[in-house]
Amino acid sequence: MADKRDYYEVLGVSKTASDDELKKAYRKLAKQYHPDSNPGDKEAEAKFKEASEAYAVLSDSDKRRQYDQFGHAAFENGGGGAGGFDFSSMDMGDIFGDIFGDLFGGGRSQRRSYNGPMKGKNTRENIRITFDEAVKGTEKPLKIRFKETCSCCNGSGAKPGTKPVTCTRCGGKGQVIMQSQSFFGMARTVTACPDCNGTGSVIKEKCSDCSGLGYVPKTKEIMVNVPAGIDNGQAVKIRGMGEPGVNGGERGDLLVEIYVSRHPVFIRQDYDIYSTVPISFVTATLGGEVRISTVDGDVMYDVKAGTQTDTKVRLRNKGVPTLRNKQVRGDHYVTLVVSVPTNLTKEQKEALKAFDEACKDEHKKDEETTKKSSFFGKKK
Ligand SMILES: [Zn+2]
Ligand SMILES: [Zn+2]
Repeated sequence: MADKRDYYEVLGVSKTASDDELKKAYRKLAKQYHPDSNPGDKEAEAKFKEASEAYAVLSDSDKRRQYDQFGHAAFENGGGGAGGFDFSSMDMGDIFGDIFGDLFGGGRSQRRSYNGPMKGKNTRENIRITFDEAVKGTEKPLKIRFKETCSCCNGSGAKPGTKPVTCTRCGGKGQVIMQSQSFFGMARTVTACPDCNGTGSVIKEKCSDCSGLGYVPKTKEIMVNVPAGIDNGQAVKIRGMGEPGVNGGERGDLLVEIYVSRHPVFIRQDYDIYSTVPISFVTATLGGEVRISTVDGDVMYDVKAGTQTDTKVRLRNKGVPTLRNKQVRGDHYVTLVVSVPTNLTKEQKEALKAFDEACKDEHKKDEETTKKSSFFGKKK
């Protein structure tokens, strides 16, 4: 333990860091090294413990003062020999409740201000749109399951004229303290009261309209406004269309994930579009106009004489509009591929042979350069 790292260094903050900066730094590390995200990774576990210890000390103003004054020595005699911080004496629930509140999925992610107003859960749906709709934006109808606040009990779930009563298990606090074994030793964790689901009150006589749920399940059709520029996998958030809040909290949001179908010709990368356009061997040689389709329709492009295959052309502002500003768009990159003619008629073949004959001098030059390069190539 002699080379124990400085707590500020562990969290990567300055000695004058504010509580907020500490919390941010710790959240970042905790997220990165949390054992749930790194199963079996001993190094990550050690890093997680190190960061947790540093945060546990620095986030407590008394302990931070002691640490600033005496360094690690401040805690070395207390815990019982081995050095290091005595985790069993602290309330891990405070740290985890606070820090992991909205970090991890599942049960512990629900951030609860016990028995106070609580925002409803977010819900998820998805819709599929075409490539063009993603580029131009669209409106789509969507059927959703919607928990409508019960008008009979106003969402309380209690029979009209009665009121929910204070939960006896938690005394209305909505939370209970659980002891559990963690890799830090025994940890006290504060969790939502299982009897009242953290609301602090229990319904004795249920509302008959909603069977005490406080809401009535419905199917609702809504219009989803999909902005131009949206990409596959992105979501549109519709405020207040999620689950009802608890204890007067606001409704959660509805997140509509957007799946964009593939386009037969265009490939999108961020806001740019890529495509391949074949040009004839004659156009490539002599130059000429070629039709290129873009999301704005076809454009005519002047191919320069002597264009080689795989030449890339950039059509500025013909890409996808950015989500932030429709006027700002990506570019469209076109790869011109020279197609080699097949199934030629006898006449066409003769013409090509005559052409080849006319190119004899060129061929000689080509052959010489090939010979030279292969000669030097062998020597190496
Ligand atoms: Zn009701
Ligand atoms: Zn309770």
